[in-house]
Amino acid sequence: MTMIRRLPETVVNRIAAGEVLERPAAAVKELVENSLDAGAGRVDVIVRDGGRSLIAVTDDGIGMTPADLVLAVERHATSKLPTDDLSAIASLGFRGEALPSIGAVARLSIASRPAAADQAWKITVDGGRTSPPEPTAQPPGTRVEVRDLFFATPARLKFLKQPATELAHAMDAVQRLAMAMPQVGFTLGDGTRTLLDLPAIPGDLFASRLRRLAAVMGRTFADNAVPVDAERDGLRLTGHIALPTLSRANAGMQFLTVNGRPVRDRLLHGAVRAAYQDVLGHGRHPLVALFLEVPPETVDVNVHPAKAEVRFRDAGLVRGLIVGALRAALAGAGHRTATTIADDALSRVQPTARPAGSGDAPAAQRAFAWPRPSAAGAPRGLADAAVAFQSPLVTTGSEPDADPSPDDSLTHPLGSARAQLHGTYIVAETADGLVIVDQHAAHERLTQERLKAALAEGGVRRQGLLIPEVVELDARRVQHLVDNADALADLGLLIEPFGSGAVVVREVPALLGDADIRGLVEDLADELAEHGAALSLNDRLGAVCATMACHGSVRAGRRLGIEEMNALLRAMESTPRSGQCSHGRPTYVELKRVDIERLFGRR
Ligand code: ADP
Ligand code: MG
Repeated sequence: MTMIRRLPETVVNRIAAGEVLERPAAAVKELVENSLDAGAGRVDVIVRDGGRSLIAVTDDGIGMTPADLVLAVERHATSKLPTDDLSAIASLGFRGEALPSIGAVARLSIASRPAAADQAWKITVDGGRTSPPEPTAQPPGTRVEVRDLFFATPARLKFLKQPATELAHAMDAVQRLAMAMPQVGFTLGDGTRTLLDLPAIPGDLFASRLRRLAAVMGRTFADNAVPVDAERDGLRLTGHIALPTLSRANAGMQFLTVNGRPVRDRLLHGAVRAAYQDVLGHGRHPLVALFLEVPPETVDVNVHPAKAEVRFRDAGLVRGLIVGALRAALAGAGHRTATTIADDALSRVQPTARPAGSGDAPAAQRAFAWPRPSAAGAPRGLADAAVAFQSPLVTTGSEPDADPSPDDSLTHPLGSARAQLHGTYIVAETADGLVIVDQHAAHERLTQERLKAALAEGGVRRQGLLIPEVVELDARRVQHLVDNADALADLGLLIEPFGSGAVVVREVPALLGDADIRGLVEDLADELAEHGAALSLNDRLGAVCATMACHGSVRAGRRLGIEEMNALLRAMESTPRSGQCSHGRPTYVELKRVDIERLFGRR
């Protein structure tokens, strides 16, 4: 016979603690959240020994009375659910579990004083045993100290990583919370040094947030960020996202905050991937910091023990908002590329010439503000670009023109073409520097954008092949192509099955000119196979257009005349997203005259 018995409360609390407190950083997160919920203007954190020997969080929030202190360390006691309504949670905490959980597995002391009180009180909980409050000295606010974390749960203690690793996790937790709260000052130290110092930034939230993001994610991010601001059906998405030319090999720099709560959300990463799909290659991840505000009743925050995940009532709506807002923001960035590109180029030419504070250089480049195509202007610019660039697409091997006309203006952002080098690079002179364009990458991007624009306007013009081309493929890839044949036809590619191991191509997009059809079909099949059914063809459209564009682009090695080169530059200026190819590599590098002068020691 089994004997069912009720577990003692200390055991129950330790079990609960195991869920809430995965590692020291989780305790840091819970305590800082409490400080923020208490309306703190300043939060100071100390994490000694990776949080094992001491975690201390001090705030200047509303504080607690002795009676509050007693309740605060009891399980399921909270001040944050005054109406018992779990469907409209506005605070970071709501379960009343953090303090009792910490008290169950560590030595906890809380000293607190409400602003109106002239006496502070302190309560201690030691491995689950609570002592009554006693008077202590403490300025208004609350100081929580956690010593010997997990001493009461040796199993958890064994799984702790090196102090430096645990400290890094704790810093990450504080930084995530700090991003959304620029009006609150934060510090974090390890007991001997201050590792994080984020002063409170007053003023307009958009501006102060960018400064806070610069402090947390780095100046480079802030210098190369594009603002996001979109609203749909009562949901508002704001924040900043990086230009595609500033990407990372992992998604560690993608942050989402929902109603002020930092969350890790697969939906976010998927939506970001979709939004950057045709401007960034596989394996590259953009940097984003996004803040989503939704009506509290449309999101369930009570789905994860550490409150790190949320569930949206209408996930499709949120995803659509993110993808749409990010795409619009990237299109608004026109042909901008990251300022880091020129820095990289220069440091490679002359590594020692860059002053240590080469963060100054982007300032010079920032001053050069690109004219941003307006939302309404972009498609028109694209149409113009298509016209302007029509001839270079069909003519081949025209002779370089004579000298550029004297009235030739340098006022265009990408300047006036001067020469073509190695049959690959266009060199242009601008008002205050020079621009080097990778003609293949640039043309590929323009073709891709024109394909997408043509598609949006009701279909891509097709061109019949005199002799249909048969492409042999394995059965699985044939199937992927046949499954998507209708959508591909909209894109101008007419494909039919041809026996079991081949397809026959009858028509191709006219835009592509003399494309390598076999290569195109093989790449498209791979492209379709890679994602399986995970993304609809429509979601992958940018990437499919990119694959097509790559096969129809001006190859490196083709001679271009000055007029053709200038047409390409003008088309880039008026085409959204033209600053990078579909893999996130820049289509051009700009060197400022001051930088060139530095290279030659003239400055
Ligand atoms: P929750 O945050 O879910 O309410 P906690 O166990 O973290 O649960 O905290 C319990 C209660 O203690 C809170 O509801 C709050 O009233 C009080 N409290 C905790 N930390 C602070 C603090 N730093 N300042 C003021 N009150 C606090
Ligand atoms: Mg809490």
